[in-house]
This record gives sequence, structure tokens and C-alpha cells, in this order.
Amino acid sequence: GASDGLTTVAVDAVATGGQAGTSSRIENYLGFPSGISGGELIERAVIQAHKFGARLMVPAQVSGLTPQDDEYIVTFTDGSRARAGAVVLASGVWYRRLEVPGIDRLEGISVYYAATVHEASLCQADPVAVVGGGNSAGQAALFLATHASRVRLLVRGGDLNADMSRYLVDQVERHPKIEVLLHTEVRGVSGEEKLESLMVEDNASSERRELRAAALFVFIGARPRTEWLRGVLALDEKGFVLTGAEAQAAADATRWASLGRGPLLLETTLPGVFAAGDVRSGSVKRVASATGEGAMAIRLVHEHRGKTGNLVRSAGP
Ligand SMILES: Cc1cc2nc3c(=O)[nH]c(=O)nc-3n(C[C@H](O)[C@H](O)[C@H](O)COP(=O)(O)OP(=O)(O)OC[C@H]3O[C@@H](n4cnc5c(N)ncnc54)[C@H](O)[C@@H]3O)c2cc1C
Repeated sequence: GASDGLTTVAVDAVATGGQAGTSSRIENYLGFPSGISGGELIERAVIQAHKFGARLMVPAQVSGLTPQDDEYIVTFTDGSRARAGAVVLASGVWYRRLEVPGIDRLEGISVYYAATVHEASLCQADPVAVVGGGNSAGQAALFLATHASRVRLLVRGGDLNADMSRYLVDQVERHPKIEVLLHTEVRGVSGEEKLESLMVEDNASSERRELRAAALFVFIGARPRTEWLRGVLALDEKGFVLTGAEAQAAADATRWASLGRGPLLLETTLPGVFAAGDVRSGSVKRVASATGEGAMAIRLVHEHRGKTGNLVRSAGP
């Protein structure tokens, strides 16, 4: 937005960079042939955003969005507000937790929802298990295999290719320390002060067995945190934001009649409110698509506002 001449404020409730910032290595982002850590990618992005004059506000959690005249009032959890000529929602997704009895007491001790150097260093000589069949699980398994003696990747479905990028499937299947267990679900955890073993079930045969594991890494998908947008704009049944043709089908025709157009490609059911990246219904969950959609959304902001429109103006507390 800033590089395109808009007064732009980017706000994040937790940390700039979202999921990409927590990734140990991103290998399929254009321009980084030997991969780049999420931390480094985000560090560069922040420098670049500042260079163009964008303001980054962290932590700042948005809790409300209210149309006012041709603009929007964005409300924050601390009660402060900002007025915006256009809004791009890029609030991504949050991790889903594993529903297994007794797992809560081991969270943060032996059960993790991220695999960084910190967690990896805690389980060097031990076998570890990773739950999930998507790219996050594949990346975590590969990363942990550089530290742990053995990594078991527990996948509920019967085909690793269903949700994981081909390049990751190839590396996972080739890796001598990684064992992939398909049709496998965790039913129980054992261990007093830390995890010692898992009870897993083959969901095809219902057969159960115990696997030794010193740590469990969970990557079983994520959901959007869009509760605060319910009733404000149209969401799909899982809570992802509808845009473009899908938004058109759900939009209030009278609201759009005066504009003489329907929602643009990444526009929601509210004129001037766009969605980009993982929060968007039907999105491809990748860094390249999230950043690409962000760039495209800015182009559409111009189409909505005309060349002089500002993205965000402070409205004071
Ligand atoms: C471990 C891991 C590895 C990955 N590896 C790859 C890879 O190798 N290649 C690849 O292409 N993709 C990878 N991905 C996926 C990729 O990171 C995501 O698709 C991408 O980051 C999506 O970006 P986003 O901006 O849409 O959302 P997110 O990255 O989810 O960012 C959303 C941000 O919005 C903030 N937010 C949410 N709600 C609010 C609110 N109400 N107020 C203020 N802020 C809010 C959140 O705090 C978060 O920081 C990986 C993901 C993970 C978790």
C-alpha cells in the first residue's frame, strides 16, 4: 500500500509476519533458491515496509469494523479507533488443537504447536512424533529430523500428496530418519512429568499400538479468527471471508446499487473492504499467494477509491 502511494498502517495483534514468521525454512518462495527462514524474510519485509513509509503497529488487536459514510471505523481492543478509506483484511488463521485426554497438561512441556530451534534442541536423542498431513507438518518433520534420532509423521488420511506440496512429500519420503504412518490418529498420551509414549490407532483397521515419543508436534490445520466479523460481512461456513463472485452472491444488493458495480475480485460484501491471504475463503495457503493477493488488493483499493484514496487515517482514541 505504502509503495503505491497510500497512507498505510499495518496492525498485528501478536507479531509482524504471522505464520511465515514462525516457519523454520521457506523453500518455495520466489527469489530464494536455497530457502529463507521465516524470521529473516519478515525482518526484510519490515525494513522494506518502513522504507516506503508504512506504519506498523504491534501489538494492536482489531475488534470491530463499522461503515461510516464512505469510510470505515476500525476499533481496537484497547478502545482506540482509526478511520480508513479502505481496509485489507489479512488476519490469516490460528492453529487447531488436538483433542486427546490429558494432552493439556503436557502442552509447552512435550506437546508443541510450533517447531523452532528451541523445541528441537529439547529432543535431540529421542524419537518425536509430528501430527498432520499438510505443509507445516512436512516442514516440521524435516526440520526435527536434523535434531531428533527419529521422527514419526502421523497422518490421518491415506495419501501424503493430498495436502502437502510435492517437493516436501519427496523430501519427507526420502529422509532416512522420517517414518510416515498413514491412517494414524493419536488416541492417548502417557507420561507423568513429560511425554513418554502415545497410543495411536489405525483408523482403517481400528488397531491400537503404543509408540515411544518424547515430544509431540501438532500441525492439524487452522481456523480463521473472524468471530468479530460475523454479522459485519459475509463469511463461509468455516468462517473464512467471502470475496469476489462469492461475495456478490451473498451481498446486499441495495448497498451496492448506488456504486453501479458488484464486489471486485478480492472485495468482500462491504465496498472498500478487501481480504487477502489465508483468511480468504478458497485461498491457497502459501506465502507467495498471500503476498500476491495483498498486492492485488491494493490495486483494487485504487479502483475503489480513485488514485488519491488513503488506506488508513488515525481517528484518535
Ligand atoms: C510452520 C509453517 C510453515 C510454513 N511454510 C510455508 C512454506 O514453506 N511455503 C509457503 O508458501 N507457505 C508456508 N506456510 C504458510 C504461510 O506461512 C501462510 O500461508 C501465510 O503466512 C499466510 O499469510 P497471511 O498474511 O494470510 O496470514 P498469517 O500469516 O496467518 O498472518 C495473519 C496475522 O494477522 C494477525 N491477526 C489476526 N487477527 C487479528 C486481529 N483481529 N487484529 C490484529 N491482527 C490480527 C495475526 O496475529 C497474524 O500475525 C507455512 C506456515 C506455517 C505455520
